[in-house]
Amino acid sequence: MSRVNENFLKLPGSYLFSTIGKKVKEYQEANPDKRIIRLGIGDVTLPLPPAVITALHAATDEMSVQDTFRGYAPDLGYEFLRSAIAECDFRRRGVELSIDEIFVSDGAKSDSANIQELFSADARIAVCDPVYPVYVDSNVMAGRTGTYDIASGRWSNVIYMPCTAQNDFVPELPEQVPDVIYLCFPNNPTGAALTKEQLQRWVDYANEKKAVIIFDAAYEAYISREEVPHSIYECAGAKTCAIELRSFSKNAGFTGTRLAYTVVPKELVLDGVALNGLWARRHGTKFNGAPYIIQKAGEAVYSEEGQKQVAEMVGYYMNNAKVIYDGLKAAGYTVSGGVDSPYIWLKTPKDMGSWDFFDYLLSQANVVGTPGAGFGPSGEGYFRLTAFGSYENTVEAIERIGRLS
Ligand code: PLP
Repeated sequence: MSRVNENFLKLPGSYLFSTIGKKVKEYQEANPDKRIIRLGIGDVTLPLPPAVITALHAATDEMSVQDTFRGYAPDLGYEFLRSAIAECDFRRRGVELSIDEIFVSDGAKSDSANIQELFSADARIAVCDPVYPVYVDSNVMAGRTGTYDIASGRWSNVIYMPCTAQNDFVPELPEQVPDVIYLCFPNNPTGAALTKEQLQRWVDYANEKKAVIIFDAAYEAYISREEVPHSIYECAGAKTCAIELRSFSKNAGFTGTRLAYTVVPKELVLDGVALNGLWARRHGTKFNGAPYIIQKAGEAVYSEEGQKQVAEMVGYYMNNAKVIYDGLKAAGYTVSGGVDSPYIWLKTPKDMGSWDFFDYLLSQANVVGTPGAGFGPSGEGYFRLTAFGSYENTVEAIERIGRLS
């Protein structure tokens, strides 16, 4: 008799965005004349850059001609894209990678969920709290996390690293030693970033403890400060302890187009086994390559024009981030993030709970954000706003919030 994977049954309901959606729908139905502004979800809104559209059209035309038609893409990605990545994202920042260390995929979400397959069933994971939920949930499905305690919102076998105002939303090295450490910087949801010096401490720690860091750099394009590294491999020794995840979603607007990559350095060896070979084997078995058309679109991101257009898009969103950050500060809020990240993390006023503040903002300002508690217990009392809306809506939302105080 076949039986289900009972680990799935342990997952608490993923109710964050569905609850938000339900509450917004109910409010709108009861108040049809109100114009709601959504600064909640982390999806981009600007269209794809022209250089990307041109490449998509050209690649589509190639697919219509016998001589240039392409079938299955190479498992690890086309060389033209992996070479462009190695040159533009790494060599220009002083990091040498061979293209066999770069694995092209259809998203950082899937990569961040799948990467845990490389580790033993009893590997102990460490995550920031609050956290992008995929890291924990994918380990729950793999049966690695122990039991869930509803009262604390925590798994018994997961090491949580609280990121709070006390530590400037920068996690401290954990007391218990993990095997796998998930770090996402610039961070979703807090918007915090690590300086090179701060990240170097993690790299040294991981090398000392023989732990592996999964470094999610999906928001790398938003880094503005000089002292913040764009890749973990800018830190000495990172190639022996870190895997890096990147995405085209937030820099180039590919959330609906789907393209990402993961770096697994050849020097990263556990128990005498190179993780690069394992990931290549896994990729080859479970993934049949990102579409040619989309990889050509990704290549266009690295063209001179593409880089200029992508920088403009990021600049547009970061201008929104500044509007939110400055506007909330002026209105008396305690605010962080928004400098190296499209996320602004604010302390709810008067110790209001995250969800109470959500209801308050929805009903009083008709603005939607994301309650911090939805990202983990340490997110309680915080609220996330995103810079991915239009400039006009962002300005209006912040004016409305300002009028409340
Ligand atoms: N990693 C983090 C931290 C994210 O916030 C997101 C999306 O919101 C992703 C990964 C997913 O990226 P992708 O669109 O490439 O799947």
